Amino acid sequence: MTNVVKISTGAGILTVLQDGTDCLPMAMFLNVRQPAAENVTIPINAFLYQTAGRNVLIDSGLGPSSDAGHLQQLLAAANVSPAQIDTVFCTHLHPDHIGGLLDDGACVFANAQLYLHREEVAFWGADALYAAAPAPFKAVIDGARAVLAGYASRIVLFEDGAEIAPEAFVMHLPGHTPGHSGLQLGPVGHAQVMLWADIVHASTLQLAQVDVGVVFDADPGQAQATRRAILQRVADSDILLAGGHLPGIGRIERTAEGYRFAPLPQN
Ligand SMILES: [Zn+2]
Repeated sequence: MTNVVKISTGAGILTVLQDGTDCLPMAMFLNVRQPAAENVTIPINAFLYQTAGRNVLIDSGLGPSSDAGHLQQLLAAANVSPAQIDTVFCTHLHPDHIGGLLDDGACVFANAQLYLHREEVAFWGADALYAAAPAPFKAVIDGARAVLAGYASRIVLFEDGAEIAPEAFVMHLPGHTPGHSGLQLGPVGHAQVMLWADIVHASTLQLAQVDVGVVFDADPGQAQATRRAILQRVADSDILLAGGHLPGIGRIERTAEGYRFAPLPQN
């Protein structure tokens, strides 16, 4: 399948499962100096990390919709049934990352524990957040809370640095949401792959213009600082990047003005 990219991380294998795409109006991006188009189409990715007999699903896509909802088909193509997923790691609780977790309120991954950052659960559960939210955001909160309720007995809270599966270490990346987290995959101190979740949404635009944020950043200033710090760290290094909205797996290169993503050839 053309939308599957696989890479060895050391002890494990990471497979990119592109659930679909989303089309974002340029008006959703902040601080754009040179708007290149009226809207931008971005990939929506989930991931399968397999190591030591474990099947870890990282995010779950947008779920059934006109341009997304391919997760189950891609898992089947990887010979993994929903019942064989033992761990779901959720980078954050936005709709394009949790859309595949519930089916009519029932857990799709019935044997999995759901790993979430402690601050993510606190954020979406807060009464004050709901009270202050406009109607469209209330719907987003309702979606997050449905997942928290559905998986309530099987939620595992983690903090920065936790090893959620062999050679899969949590990297807290606050800003986009308070508990927004990625993973470093590989031996301690020698990560092969960094899965940076939603450090960028429109990768071409936001790597060239690092100040550009999105309207759904919970804390735009912190999101920008986190993005700058990570880019400084990974640019021109050997580490491979994967992300919720990156096209495949690749490296980050510096350019005169900012950065660019150089994807590996698809296999
Ligand atoms: Zn996202």
